[in-house]
Amino acid sequence: MISIQGKGVSTGVALGPLYFYQRAKSSISRTTVKDTQAEWERFKAAQAKAVEQLGELAEKARVEAGDSAAFLFETHQMMAEDLDYEEAIQGLIQDDKLNAEAAVSDTAAQFADMFANMDDPYMQARSADVKDVSSRIIGILTGAVQGGIDSPVPVILIADDLAPSETVQLDKSKILGFVTEGGSGSSHTAILARTMGIPAIIGVGKQVKAEYAGREVIIDGTKGEVIIDADEATRNLMVSKMEELKKQREMLELLKGKPNKTKDGHTIRIYCNIGSPDDVAPVLGNDAGGIGLFRSEFLYLNCDDYPTEDYQFEAYKKVLSDMEGREVVIRTLDIGADKQIDYFDLPKEENPAMGNRALRICLNRPEIFRTQLRALYRASAFGKLSIMFPMVTSVWEVKEAKKMCERVKAELTAEGKAFSNDVELGIMIETPAAAVMSDRLAKEVDFFSCGTNDLTQYTLACDRQNADLGRFFNPHHPAVLRLLKLVCDNAHKNGIWVGICGELGADLSLTETFLSIGIDELSVSPRAVLPLRQKVRDTNVAVCRERVLSELMSDINTI
Ligand code: PEP
Ligand code: MG
Repeated sequence: MISIQGKGVSTGVALGPLYFYQRAKSSISRTTVKDTQAEWERFKAAQAKAVEQLGELAEKARVEAGDSAAFLFETHQMMAEDLDYEEAIQGLIQDDKLNAEAAVSDTAAQFADMFANMDDPYMQARSADVKDVSSRIIGILTGAVQGGIDSPVPVILIADDLAPSETVQLDKSKILGFVTEGGSGSSHTAILARTMGIPAIIGVGKQVKAEYAGREVIIDGTKGEVIIDADEATRNLMVSKMEELKKQREMLELLKGKPNKTKDGHTIRIYCNIGSPDDVAPVLGNDAGGIGLFRSEFLYLNCDDYPTEDYQFEAYKKVLSDMEGREVVIRTLDIGADKQIDYFDLPKEENPAMGNRALRICLNRPEIFRTQLRALYRASAFGKLSIMFPMVTSVWEVKEAKKMCERVKAELTAEGKAFSNDVELGIMIETPAAAVMSDRLAKEVDFFSCGTNDLTQYTLACDRQNADLGRFFNPHHPAVLRLLKLVCDNAHKNGIWVGICGELGADLSLTETFLSIGIDELSVSPRAVLPLRQKVRDTNVAVCRERVLSELMSDINTI
């Protein structure tokens, strides 16, 4: 038995084979083939395998998230077998003697272009689908692994760390838990694990050796422990812990439909953070009241080129319609720093966390911002939308962003396109400057949402991505908590609501603090909704408020 200690960043216990993440090969070789019939058969076998994989994914999605989730995979199945698509590939293999992977790649590019140039937004959105299906077939042909996991059974995935663009591509149905060599609690692998409700352990360094691949591993996300080839007693203990956690989860299920009301009658809104329109199913499944943060940059990360207005409109419309009138806060593009996208062609920066990112990019490149705002306002006709701007530091930035919203609304009105007049505008409070200036900023917007991941990073001048800074990156630091109190006070003095959408919102050891300082909304990963509801219902603000506030401001708490 080998036991390795890391840092648990998403709770739960999982047991399964250890699998090393494989980065997909991006280059496709182009060769001339002699035996075109054999090459055609090679394509047909890969196509059949792709159809089979998609069928399995559709069934899994149907069980987990219903018919609409399965529909995507079924559409991909149909595309893989589409006669025009197949004929184009056959022509390139048999007439031009091109190897199968290059023939699929060329056909994918041709079809994707054709779809992208159609007028109908639905057909335009198929462009991404045809690329997706084709890369699955190419992956099978080249032996490169679609989504990094080539295993018939779900696995515990180990990687050095995963970039946001890699996490969006993972076949989530194949992952029981994550282990990463580096990373941090607020890295996107950790956030993804919490969204999926599976355990994750970071910072194990090089202790998990390549020769352990395929061996049975147990991970305990609460303790941060990775156990390989557990002895019988340990294995039994962990299996009973898994069963215990399952029972606790069943108890929490009983809280569905119950209000988030404290013992003394304070009600708080509990919303969810999502990264894709597909994440709505777990939001509803966990009975959240709304979406407090849709990280829209994941749409951009998922594309090879700037997503069009119609493509974005479809995605936002889907989330808003699926949420059936519940509030959805969509954050405008937040790239830069750890979320880099090649096609933005941004110059390399010495200090990207403090560089050209988020709202700064949008204000510097208004055409990109305008496209997103047009898509958002058009989608607002389909539900209860709020728009939120990230990485604000100054009042003028908010004024400029609001002007852009007015311009977009005027354009849509002139074009006779529908949008809601009820869209709330808010900002993220994630820089110390925004927190300190929150009295002034509150006069400009309808709400604040505190991004405690970045607020901690900037307040403590401590890189949230750097695993070596673990004990310095302390979101409980009184400097962070006092800023949150200041933000709440300023929001309420100006009659606006304030929430938390950073990872700290789900930290149950701070729920009393958040309720005591007057936080109105907490936006957390779907799996955290019911434990948080339980904690809120167990709290009595009238009893704890004085103690919590005096601790917050006292000398004992000055670390
Ligand atoms: C935050 O900074 O707390 C936040 C919610 O945004 P992100 O983690 O996407 O930077
Ligand atoms: Mg942030």
